[in-house]
Amino acid sequence: MKSKTEAIIISSMNLGEADKLVTFFSLDRGMQKGVAKNARKSFRRFGAGLEAFTTCRLHLHEREHQELVRIESADILSQPVDICNDLVRAAAGAVMLELVKELAPPNERNASAFLLLAHILHLLNAGEDPNFLLSIFEIKFLSLLGYQPKLDHCLACGIQPKGDVIFMGMKGGMLCQECVVSSEEPQVKLSQGAVGFYYQALRMDMDKICRLKPSPGIMKELDQAFAAHTFHILGKKLKSTEFLRSVSSI
Ligand SMILES: [Zn+2]
Repeated sequence: MKSKTEAIIISSMNLGEADKLVTFFSLDRGMQKGVAKNARKSFRRFGAGLEAFTTCRLHLHEREHQELVRIESADILSQPVDICNDLVRAAAGAVMLELVKELAPPNERNASAFLLLAHILHLLNAGEDPNFLLSIFEIKFLSLLGYQPKLDHCLACGIQPKGDVIFMGMKGGMLCQECVVSSEEPQVKLSQGAVGFYYQALRMDMDKICRLKPSPGIMKELDQAFAAHTFHILGKKLKSTEFLRSVSSI
């Protein structure tokens, strides 16, 4: 069956002599993988359309009971080339793509998550702060996939704390100071400013999101909380995070 879909290229690797194995996140069917036959030889059918971060219209050929679709050709809709011209932008973008690859379920449509990724990549390409955009992406993307951490009440006593709270990656939520007992799990402190920023970012439309100006301290707190949160969801660290940390501190 032939079809076409709008998709963002997540990764693409060489396969055999001339083909490419492409992972893409599509508007219609979420995460998918496909083989682009002769992609390394046919510039006419693919151009640079199979590079990571590119949004393109993919022409597909699907066969029943086959996990891999065949990618017949790609028309580029937008190619955010400036992401790859800057190390920190490219590193932050790589973390976003890895999150999508690890978390988005295959063949499951999630139009909101697709549009979020497209919008964030556009802003990243336009030169907005990469670490800020990654934070916004984590907040909204995890929520759209059903992994929203619970930060509005203490998991143990149910109250809405006024002061600092402790984020528990294992439980996907937080404890107030009274309910925290020492445990083996590393503890991540979140101030009320960080919790407030989290809910503000979660609810704010993407069109207005760049009006938010969190302090570096708030960004750091949320970065640590989301690292603990995603570690618990995936059972491992994201590979691209270390690279982002190393290039961000240069
Ligand atoms: Zn409590």
